[in-house]
Amino acid sequence: MYVARALPEYTRASGWVDLLPPRRPQDALSGHVTADVAVIGAGFAGLAAARTLQEQDPALRIVLLEASEIALGAAGRNSGFVIDLPHEVSSEDYAGGQASDTRRQIHLNRSAIALIARIAAENGCGRDVFDPCGKYNIAMGSKGDHHITAYARQLDALGEPYRLLDAKAIAEVTGTDRFSSAIHMPGTAIIQPAAWVRLAADSLGPGVRLHERTPVTAFARQGGAWQLTTPHGQVTAPRVILATNGHAQSFGLYAGQLLHVFTYASMSEPFAPARLGGHRSWAATPAFPMGTTVRRVQGTDGDRLLIRSRYTYHARPKIGEADVARAGRVHDRKFAARFPTLRGLRMAHRWGGAMALTWNGVPTVGEIEPGLFSACTCNGVGATKATAAGIAAAQQALGLDTELVDTFRRAAPPRALPPQPWLTLGARLNLRWREWRAGIE
Ligand SMILES: Cc1cc2nc3c(=O)[nH]c(=O)nc-3n(C[C@H](O)[C@H](O)[C@H](O)COP(=O)(O)OP(=O)(O)OC[C@H]3O[C@@H](n4cnc5c(N)ncnc54)[C@H](O)[C@@H]3O)c2cc1C
Repeated sequence: MYVARALPEYTRASGWVDLLPPRRPQDALSGHVTADVAVIGAGFAGLAAARTLQEQDPALRIVLLEASEIALGAAGRNSGFVIDLPHEVSSEDYAGGQASDTRRQIHLNRSAIALIARIAAENGCGRDVFDPCGKYNIAMGSKGDHHITAYARQLDALGEPYRLLDAKAIAEVTGTDRFSSAIHMPGTAIIQPAAWVRLAADSLGPGVRLHERTPVTAFARQGGAWQLTTPHGQVTAPRVILATNGHAQSFGLYAGQLLHVFTYASMSEPFAPARLGGHRSWAATPAFPMGTTVRRVQGTDGDRLLIRSRYTYHARPKIGEADVARAGRVHDRKFAARFPTLRGLRMAHRWGGAMALTWNGVPTVGEIEPGLFSACTCNGVGATKATAAGIAAAQQALGLDTELVDTFRRAAPPRALPPQPWLTLGARLNLRWREWRAGIE
């Protein structure tokens, strides 16, 4: 029997949710239901799993259970980059074996983007929710410039398209002269994450029963089927897909293998577009993976800037207000360094959210025991990777042997983490060192 020792707690919604009109959540589960497949968690992975099950077999009875409300979790509180290319294609000494692994990863990422694009097209989604505009990787100094040049060489080796921008060209996009160079890659899609997650949930067909405010508190295998327990109901299903991100560990799964790393974002109040030149909508990740993400969001009441940076390790998947406030002070410094002409612009929203990582960067996707499938642990780039994990877990649950399933099957098992207190000490030092290495980037 797997019993949840902790449940997700979202102390405040992200700025993305606050930009949207209120939404009435689906009713919590009450009473007993039977289903062909039960999916636990309605983030990217759970929504992709439910959608894939439904597409593969419209007759399936699927129950999707979300502890909180749609878009309050990490899937609705990220920066909205649905990325096709790895942050780091490989090291400088790029070799053929690594290239085939990288190509497999890119294929995995693009399978996820294809599903997201299909849902967007079917629902007549505007560019404010799903925009296949690509992204910039952006540098602030010589270290970042060097990284961008090296990255471009690796993209050449992979035959991937890109466009390099010098300081003047990127200033024309961003409206600030603080960036020294950039590279644009066309394959990334940009989403309004909360709007996107709502759309993906609300467009599921009648074969999927979604229940919000319905945490699964325990599940166990009895008589050939899984029995899931929630505060006011039960589900019986022969197959279960666990899509709970780091909360897999709250059920005792992957004990000593998952790292709970949180990252943080701040979003400004709206400003008159004329205050900052450049394009009204663009999205840039840092030249260094541990650096600062920046995004400009065009709105009807003005434009907003989003800053995402800081990573913190926590022994449990939970943070407090002080963590968000500390990250906010870093955001304010990063913002001032990038947009001096917007001095005085206040941050209207700040939030943090969880990512689950493994020590060796491998996902935890696959059949854990008969009829129990995991689609957990994104290791960053979760919009794409968790979506791909959800698709693959659904395919596996249906007994399909696809290229995506094979890619996840090839992954090495997660490495055991060092015991506490060494783990906390080591993880915190490692993150600090990486952030220090990213410097002004
Ligand atoms: C500030 C920030 C910026 C980020 N930016 C990006 C970005 O630009 N691009 C990108 O790719 N990634 C980004 N990420 C990471 C990305 O958001 C996550 O990797 C992604 O959401 C993981 O998806 P998931 O479906 O695995 O998990 P989640 O989105 O966490 O979904 C899991 C769901 O399971 C539910 N759940 C947990 N336990 C239970 C239970 N017992 N019963 C029922 N439900 C349960 C949770 O409430 C949650 O809704 C960012 C993250 C943060 C915090």
